[in-house]
Amino acid sequence: MRKFLPVVAAALGLAACSGVPADNATQPVSISFALTKDGQPAACGAPLGRLGSNKVAAKLRDARFYVQDVALIDAAGKATPVKLAVNEWQTGPVALLDFENGADGCVGGKPMNGVVTGAVPPGKYVGLSFAVGAPPALNHTSIEKAPAPLDSAAMNWSWQTGRKFMKVEVDPKGGVTKPDGTKAPTWFLHLGSTECSGNPATGEPASCKRSNRAPLSFPAFDPATQAVALDLGVLFGGSNLSKDQGAAVGCMSGPTDADCPPVFARLGLSLETGLPVVPGKAPAFSVVKKP
Ligand code: CA
Repeated sequence: MRKFLPVVAAALGLAACSGVPADNATQPVSISFALTKDGQPAACGAPLGRLGSNKVAAKLRDARFYVQDVALIDAAGKATPVKLAVNEWQTGPVALLDFENGADGCVGGKPMNGVVTGAVPPGKYVGLSFAVGAPPALNHTSIEKAPAPLDSAAMNWSWQTGRKFMKVEVDPKGGVTKPDGTKAPTWFLHLGSTECSGNPATGEPASCKRSNRAPLSFPAFDPATQAVALDLGVLFGGSNLSKDQGAAVGCMSGPTDADCPPVFARLGLSLETGLPVVPGKAPAFSVVKKP
């Protein structure tokens, strides 16, 4: 018991700092995320190196994504939901990861966030699961009225009446040539639920034909030493970033956009159904050593 006391004290201290209600029946959790390119840190202001199937020099413009339903997994495979702390990056079961700082060609603002914090019942956990997305009940809400981080105008997707779950934008050197021969500076990846109907503002539930939420599961994950990385080299590994094939420049989750299948495959999603190909697996996400 004497040996256990400092652990409890540490847990209480951390919990108090992170906004999680302090009580001795919880264990604090802090999960780190990283943005990488071929395993190296990727950020605004530094060249990404050669990116895409056409290996073009590129710069980061934006990189943010929502995660939902973060859970720790025990040795028996049971998932225990992490009760997220409430702060500017987290509300209910949703958190926003933000890897752009507004500097040097990046859009948006300075604050960044690479961590999800919360608490779980005390126990021994060996793995991690979460989904890229925001739950349906919170996705189709007004950004003016929703609490942070669901109030992010940058992640609002008005034409699909919801949020962009993921927004990754890169500027390839020389721009992106569109089918009509004109050029655009940016290749956009916007992931979110599509073909939604119903107006939640009038009390009508929204219903989407394609969910496009990507569930991820890592059976072996140690939050103390490891992080979850989204790797841009993998994500865009099948995409010619200098040439758009029609519809949105890049991929905005359009079911008929020929630029979508390669990035959807790397997010573990079927463009056709909006469902995971192999639930839990997305090549673009992996466990790495904590930066
Ligand atoms: Ca396109």
